[in-house]
Amino acid sequence: MKKLDILVVGAGFAGLIAARELGYAGHRVTVLEARDRIGGRTWTDRRLGIDLEMGGTWVHWLQPHVWAEISRYQREIVRSPLPEKAYWIAGGELASGTPDELAQRSAPGHDVVLSGSHDVFPEPYALLSAMGDDSVEGRRRFSRLVELDTVSILDKLHASDLSQEEIDLADAFWAACHNGGTDSGAASMAQRWYALAGHNFELLNEATLAYKLVGGMRGLYERIAADVRGTIELNTEVVAITYREDGVSVRTAADATIDADAVIVTAPVNALRGVQFDPPLCGAAEELIETGMNSAGLKLWAKIKGHHRFLCQAPSGYPLTFAWPEYFLEDGTSIVVAFGPDSSKLDGNCVEDVQAALRTWIPDVEVLETTSHDWVEDEFSRQTWATFRTGQLTSQWPDLVEPRGRLLFAGGDYASGWAGFVDGAIQSGLDAAATISRPCSTRRAGM
Ligand SMILES: Cc1cc2nc3c(=O)[nH]c(=O)nc-3n(C[C@H](O)[C@H](O)[C@H](O)COP(=O)(O)OP(=O)(O)OC[C@H]3O[C@@H](n4cnc5c(N)ncnc54)[C@H](O)[C@@H]3O)c2cc1C
Repeated sequence: MKKLDILVVGAGFAGLIAARELGYAGHRVTVLEARDRIGGRTWTDRRLGIDLEMGGTWVHWLQPHVWAEISRYQREIVRSPLPEKAYWIAGGELASGTPDELAQRSAPGHDVVLSGSHDVFPEPYALLSAMGDDSVEGRRRFSRLVELDTVSILDKLHASDLSQEEIDLADAFWAACHNGGTDSGAASMAQRWYALAGHNFELLNEATLAYKLVGGMRGLYERIAADVRGTIELNTEVVAITYREDGVSVRTAADATIDADAVIVTAPVNALRGVQFDPPLCGAAEELIETGMNSAGLKLWAKIKGHHRFLCQAPSGYPLTFAWPEYFLEDGTSIVVAFGPDSSKLDGNCVEDVQAALRTWIPDVEVLETTSHDWVEDEFSRQTWATFRTGQLTSQWPDLVEPRGRLLFAGGDYASGWAGFVDGAIQSGLDAAATISRPCSTRRAGM
């Protein structure tokens, strides 16, 4: 097999995995990373006195690609603490009860959002081929998918005969999952996640929010990086990419030009606004980049007085829609993790504002310190985890993920499986490396 010079833009999970696989296959690989660190939207950092995940945190064996890496590098997982009491705001009222009671009250809303998933996503990994299925059954299924994809979570809830309380409870949960507005977030994303978790709501919760890595994400991404047989250049922002039939040229912010046989771009969709493509990507792909994904929310950590085991949720009009203590420190404090759908509505680094937001549920909670990274303002992400606006999955995403000869996109935002997760980033990185390395695929990509 011909050995190729491959450039990988970005040293998050997708880029590191693609680089590792291509290096093992004997290609010459250079990873160009804009930031001064690897890991991308996963970042285990020392904050509030302990190692905290500023980005991606939870993993699970139901996510096959990340699990394979956890096994390969012999990492361990630990369960997040279970809540003992739940507080929720619904129908304008604050209520409290057991977590089971909250789950029971939320079930009717989740049923409305999730019913029909078997029909629309019978094989969630086969999404792209299912979209191109021209049989009568394939066309019927695609039109059901389009129908679901063009309706928002909130519209779907309002079109039902649910009570306001039931709408608000489901809205709170899906605002947290979307990390963005439920009025703009596609209902298809909810059903896609649900299908990946075996169409089982409990498994969906387990798969996405129950287990984290001992030693943090850093313990995984640093090991993958150590296995890359190639160069990882930090502080190297790519600003322009020219792709031709016979190769690619990449220009960096320092005005260096690097030529190669192919390039894999793993920058998040919203960060592609900072990269100029020649020829332009055009059409639906460009529209997706311009409109941006739905993920405009925030994640924050807050140190509070006392040890508490609560779960809080509120509908999407509130600055925070989900919060619970994740760590209990020996000095008698707890560290709460919280999510909100709109990062512009709350400064996750402001103690007073975060305390006011948490006091919506627990009036006497005392916040001592907070920390958060603004992924939406960060020019190398401009979004949090990939979640889709209405219509994007069926009308724009397929165009963006289509390989353009020697230009390929890979990452959590582009994955056909667990998009929006580390698992999807790994899967997509593997796919891109295979597309370049496999003789038949290589022919398709013109290499
Ligand atoms: C707050 C938050 C919470 C999350 N929670 C979870 C979770 O619990 N579980 C889970 O599985 N996933 C979670 N995710 C999602 C997960 O972190 C991502 O899906 C995954 O890390 C994406 O990896 P990636 O390699 O595709 O992209 P990224 O990690 O974003 O990597 C892309 C890299 O490209 C670089 N880059 C961008 N532009 C340029 C440029 N012009 N030139 C050079 N380099 C560039 C970036 O700096 C970055 O390092 C979360 C994400 C966030 C933000």
